[in-house]
Amino acid sequence: MDSYVVLLTGLVALLFGLAIGKAWERYKLRDGQWIDRRRARESPHYMLGLNFLVTNQTEPAIDELTRAAAAAGDPLEIHLILGNLYREKGQVGRAIQEHQKLLQRPDLRKLEHANVLLCLGLDYKRGGFVDRALEAFTEVLRLDPDNQYALANLEKLYEEQHQWREAYATRQKLAKRDPDNTQARHNEILAFLENELGLAALKRMDYPEAARRFEAAIELDTQNAPAYLNLGDVRFYEGDGAGAITVWERLIEKSPERAYLAFSRLEGAYPKAGRLDGFPTLCRHLIATTPQDWRARLALARYLSQHDGAKEALELLFEALVQNPHALVLHQAIWQTLSQLQLPQPLVDRYVDVTRDSIFYLDPHICIRCRYRSTELLWQCPQCHEWNTFIEERIAPVAESLKSEV
Ligand SMILES: [Zn+2]
Repeated sequence: MDSYVVLLTGLVALLFGLAIGKAWERYKLRDGQWIDRRRARESPHYMLGLNFLVTNQTEPAIDELTRAAAAAGDPLEIHLILGNLYREKGQVGRAIQEHQKLLQRPDLRKLEHANVLLCLGLDYKRGGFVDRALEAFTEVLRLDPDNQYALANLEKLYEEQHQWREAYATRQKLAKRDPDNTQARHNEILAFLENELGLAALKRMDYPEAARRFEAAIELDTQNAPAYLNLGDVRFYEGDGAGAITVWERLIEKSPERAYLAFSRLEGAYPKAGRLDGFPTLCRHLIATTPQDWRARLALARYLSQHDGAKEALELLFEALVQNPHALVLHQAIWQTLSQLQLPQPLVDRYVDVTRDSIFYLDPHICIRCRYRSTELLWQCPQCHEWNTFIEERIAPVAESLKSEV
């Protein structure tokens, strides 16, 4: 909720800055109209309104700004802000009314027109009027083709409608207009959109097109995990087991922390390709190279307990539990293995020791943008709709003593 407020404040601040800039520019251009500008800014209501805005007190901010607007001859920028405040309060109809009224002003300049339309687009979007929002943002871009804010909103709307092609084209425009060196981030998002296009092709069982899309996604961002998984699936469906394995192994090579996503696929595919010890070998390699990888230990433990290796499996599970004591799957696997071994007392005691000081919590995946929490890894955040923002919150290993015991 806090992050939402921060986001909101940022948005308001942005539009505020925009409006102030426009006001300054406008009155400077029109010689002799200094006083108008001062009238708005000298008004105590204006300053009070600003102060309320800063402290997120929307209601009194609206009151003061309404008075300031009346005192200063209804300047456009204050009404723009008022509309935005109504929207953020949830009074979308009121916001739309406020912004639509501004569109009817006879002396609107092109950029002012674009700014009003942008706010109106946000109103429509908030109210769920998707078509009208699309129309408004498109119109903003006709008036102001470089408006990145309109492009970003347009992209999100297309994504919500699963219009991946349009979303892709919009993100490309954004990338082209981005003056900073953030192309990597644009490519990361384009890769996710390519992946969605691939999934749509997969649904139609158009394997060649799907494969092309997934390959393009990987080309854009070599870390795009779902594209590897899906490309491997396509190869597998096409009967190319070895090809599928190669793709999934490439995922692990590029993003070892995401290796577990390919575990069940690889465990099934290796034996079919004649590589009987392919899976345990892979797990051992991962454990050796990334010591905190609890999932590789769990996967290997499960494999071993099915292949007469329950004792070694249990050791692996204890190690994994030190890395991630909150993982319920580990506790379940430990109890299964313990009972497979007929509950030897010293091992049960070790389990109690390891868990005693552990901190348990839920929803380990967290969006680094809006702090949304999820039990599973998500590629797009359901709250802020950003791509690839989830990290796994991990607590520090608890029992250093266990390591020395092992
Ligand atoms: Zn988020």
